[in-house]
Amino acid sequence: MPKKPAPSARHAEPAVKLSARGAKRLQGRHPWVYRSDIVGANDIPSGALVRVHDPRGKFLGTALYSSSSQIAIRMISHGSVDDLPALVAERVRAAIAYRKELVRNTDAYRIVFSEADFLPGLIVDRYNDVLCVQILTQAMDAAPVRDAILQTLRDELQPAGIVERVEARIRELEQLPPRPSGLLWGEKSSTVVNMNGVRFHYDGFEGQKTGAFLDQRENYAAAAEYAHGEALDAFCYQGGYALHFSLHPAARCSKVTGVDSSRPALEMAEKNATLNGLELEWIEANAFDLLRDYAAANRRYDTIVLDPPAFAKTKRDLDKALRGYKELNLRAMKMLRPGGVLVTCSCSFHVGAAEFLKVVADAAQDAHKDLRVLENRGAAKDHPILLNVPETGYLQCLIFSVSD
Ligand code: SAH
Repeated sequence: MPKKPAPSARHAEPAVKLSARGAKRLQGRHPWVYRSDIVGANDIPSGALVRVHDPRGKFLGTALYSSSSQIAIRMISHGSVDDLPALVAERVRAAIAYRKELVRNTDAYRIVFSEADFLPGLIVDRYNDVLCVQILTQAMDAAPVRDAILQTLRDELQPAGIVERVEARIRELEQLPPRPSGLLWGEKSSTVVNMNGVRFHYDGFEGQKTGAFLDQRENYAAAAEYAHGEALDAFCYQGGYALHFSLHPAARCSKVTGVDSSRPALEMAEKNATLNGLELEWIEANAFDLLRDYAAANRRYDTIVLDPPAFAKTKRDLDKALRGYKELNLRAMKMLRPGGVLVTCSCSFHVGAAEFLKVVADAAQDAHKDLRVLENRGAAKDHPILLNVPETGYLQCLIFSVSD
């Protein structure tokens, strides 16, 4: 987190004192402190800027306070902050500049990734000329902060529309008044984007996340390098992998099939195929059942993608999640022809990189297959992993060559 000038003598912001454990967490450069680690805090207004001290009264920096979340404070600076909207505007500009250096071959990418851009509680995705904003904390929801975010995005990126996607449950948890999703600025809420030369429809008010899985964008192109023969994109959503396997110049697929349980997702996938002048096969099904039935019927593929939703939403789900990943990977491996390619993903933060590798290795053992790692990947570079904040590194994408 960039340093700010040293604190001056007097401050209007309320102060909080942390337990030794809370202070240690901050020294480890994780920006969150849980309510149970706050030992002194009186009547702090929701969303306030607070000055944070260790148990001996030493000043540790400035944080955003939430009166309702278990994550009571999220650090925003290791120094003092005089003007939060100005600081947020500066960080948004820095986040945009960071992407300018890194992002290639796309007009759809994440511009602000919350803690990883030192803007806890703010997500901004760019879909060509439409921006999609998500505001997840009390402090980011304050009117002067919202205004600063919008003004900076307009000045820096000149979008035709800025959409806000509201997750009602998160607003409820943060005890923020309900508000609908809607256009915050401009007139445009839908557009067409281009990732790696493949075009996709975007509608700011439809679909999952902010509309697409932008974190997979670089993985689409990487996987296309190996994709060949008959390909099955399980959990295909709006066709990200499937369309790349059909259109990317490196891909050598003879037939591509996408499977998802969501009809609206498949309708969009079909529209995307048409937009690119393609006709692909889309199957509405439970991918677990479909893989089991296809495996039993001896169906074979040369390339299989597994990109299921997060199985472990909490730590408690971990064992069940690992069994789910193993089962899926086992079925896919059995269906691959020799020399086949397996692209297997996990977006469960609670399943660590080592655990995910182990689960795939266990599946390989049971399937009697040898797997060679072609690539061991994560989210696209516009979703940076902040090293001391493990929560920012949730996506695994492994690409294997599978032999008997
Ligand atoms: N690969 C996609 C993202 C997949 S997200 C991309 O890159 O865009 C996970 C998808 O799994 C969602 O589209 C969801 O609708 C679908 N899904 C969830 N449970 C499913 C199930 N049991 N069978 C098939 N699809 C499922």
